[in-house]
Amino acid sequence: MTLLETHTPAIAGFVEKTPLERYVAPKKPSLVGMSRSELADALGSIGVPERQRKMRVQQLWHWIYFRGFTDFDAMTSVSKELRATLSQHFTVDRPEVIAEQVSVDGTRKWLLRLPGDPDSGLPHDVECVYIPDTERGTLCVSSQVGCTLNCSFCHTGTQRLVRNLTAGEIVGQVLAARDKLGDWPGGVRPTDGVVPTGDRCVTNIVMMGMGEPLYNFEAVRDALLIVSDGDGIGISKRRITLSTSGVVPNIARAGAEIGCMLAISLHAVRDDLRNELVPLNRKYPIKELLEACRNYPGASNAKRITFEYVMLKGVNDSIEEAKALVRLLKGIHAKINLIPFNPWPGSKDECSDWEQIEKFSQVVFDAGYASPVRTPRGRDILAACGQLKSETEKLTARERMALRAMAMTDE
Ligand code: SAH
Ligand code: SF4
Repeated sequence: MTLLETHTPAIAGFVEKTPLERYVAPKKPSLVGMSRSELADALGSIGVPERQRKMRVQQLWHWIYFRGFTDFDAMTSVSKELRATLSQHFTVDRPEVIAEQVSVDGTRKWLLRLPGDPDSGLPHDVECVYIPDTERGTLCVSSQVGCTLNCSFCHTGTQRLVRNLTAGEIVGQVLAARDKLGDWPGGVRPTDGVVPTGDRCVTNIVMMGMGEPLYNFEAVRDALLIVSDGDGIGISKRRITLSTSGVVPNIARAGAEIGCMLAISLHAVRDDLRNELVPLNRKYPIKELLEACRNYPGASNAKRITFEYVMLKGVNDSIEEAKALVRLLKGIHAKINLIPFNPWPGSKDECSDWEQIEKFSQVVFDAGYASPVRTPRGRDILAACGQLKSETEKLTARERMALRAMAMTDE
């Protein structure tokens, strides 16, 4: 029996699932997620003359993305008449936060509700995680409900239902997080947890939530261009990292059309093992993946590509593999992040022993890759890497308790 079969018997044998195509936009669409030219067209559709559109777009952009307003009526630089017309036809809605959990380490996880299946009426939902530190706050954003891929160690991958998020739903996660954190000019910060000391709570974005961002390329691109726009949210592209399991054809596109930082979920140094851990490897093997990284536009010593490597006990954590990893990445502007495996109910893997992680890490460190181990955050609320899953497929209270206990004893 192969590793994949022992790990995910039900879904062994296929590389990817097909996403649902049944998204139906709300009757009154939200302006959130529209590019400037889409906004101009939306204004045209409600009768704003062409010569005024650029100025109106600029005004709306400021209210929506710089000030965080959700009510057209409060957008005082826009004429009263236009405000009324706008609210007849559009909203500034973002996904609704239906639950919040705060970890013992200050990490917050929000469950967001999205328009669901038009036939069954069942809602879809995704999770979004906020990881505060003293000087920065990182928001981990989802790109899909579930994931089309099925990496053997990932909880999200076990979810069968997959739907691509729209650009508005991706940007909307950033807006919803900033709403909850009071992270708008004049906003009030939460008092029940850690927030960074600076004037912004959300300083960094990682596309490392649910889903494979490069399988929802256009929406992710459009959303990240809005998030990095200097007249609005203004998070620099150097502070935005997109993580991919290795959708090779879209890596160059991400560099050219988004220009953000790149992270690659490598996790194995040989194709036979990576084929099992990350089945997409059967389509895009390691050599092709690394070639795409070598050619990633903008990669340099100052803008390194991060290689993520989840530490799985007895699977990929030998010293020989550490040495092979270093050899493999030679000539690429690379950083290495060793991620201790985060368990989830039903997961078959175990995290490598701490001693082994340290030995592995030493080899990587000696080769010039500094501080490679990423300490797991928010494990007690299932908010760490690879633990996210939709509410519709949620854990029982007992599973949650078991996981909490596991996280406590591990730290
Ligand atoms: N689909 C993208 C981004 C989301 S996953 C990708 O795979 O890169 C974000 C990171 O979490 C990836 O590196 C992924 O391999 C890792 N991950 C998944 N499950 C994990 C787990 N249970 N423990 C630790 N890391 C995990
Ligand atoms: Fe999807 Fe990433 Fe999980 Fe793999 S690790 S199943 S690509 S979310």
